[in-house]
Amino acid sequence: MNLVEIFASAQGEGLHVGASTIFVRLGECDLRCSWCDSPGTWLPAKRWRYETGPGTADFVEHANPASLSQVEDALEQLDAKSYRFVSVTGGEPLLQVESVEAIARIVREMGSRTLLETHGLAVGAMERVAPLIDVVSMDWKLAKDVRWAAEPEAGEDVSFDSRHEAFLIAALQHCEVYVKVVVTAQTTTEELKSVARQVASVDASVPLVLQPVTPMAKVREAPTASQMLPHMRACEGILKDVRLIPQTHKVYGAL
Ligand code: SF4
Repeated sequence: MNLVEIFASAQGEGLHVGASTIFVRLGECDLRCSWCDSPGTWLPAKRWRYETGPGTADFVEHANPASLSQVEDALEQLDAKSYRFVSVTGGEPLLQVESVEAIARIVREMGSRTLLETHGLAVGAMERVAPLIDVVSMDWKLAKDVRWAAEPEAGEDVSFDSRHEAFLIAALQHCEVYVKVVVTAQTTTEELKSVARQVASVDASVPLVLQPVTPMAKVREAPTASQMLPHMRACEGILKDVRLIPQTHKVYGAL
């Protein structure tokens, strides 16, 4: 598999923020989000690294591709079974669906839980891995912030909303799911209400996390409280569980 890194930290975003988590980050992504905080994962990585102990920032490097037994060894060395979650993230992990399936199987055998962080667009891959995944952190992309990495083929349906809806239905068959939207200073309440309505059309009890963008690279400003709080209240009129949760790992300087 193409791997970027394995390390120990606390979950920095979403509904399980603060939970002890081992991160397994896979390489390559087929999207280009304007606010992406891991552009180094867009292309397959030549080398991967793993942290030798929790929080040590002491890494050992290997060449890609990584083998499943190397991943298993790293998870054992970090005592992954004692963590609340093993997060499979990226990049877009579902581009390597066989690897996600194999890692999730190892995690389940260890007695831990897999949390999959995904762009929420690879419907067939989600259907395949869903029985092995415990929690899905599913992004819902707003079209003005995101583009596909490659030009779509003629006639291909590449709109986000219909794929997100199908993905949500597939994930809910087997997994706990929450939907996350990254909110910029330019995001409108109408855009967020539209997402909330589409989520509600599948299941109004699915939690929606509104995550204010963390300024970095080309993103210079975060939305203000006077923008975020009305966004939250508007979505609460449509869904039962709406949370405003910023990224926390940036605050204490973790990976
Ligand atoms: S889907 Fe994730 S990894 Fe890919 S560009 Fe967007 S934020 Fe970055």
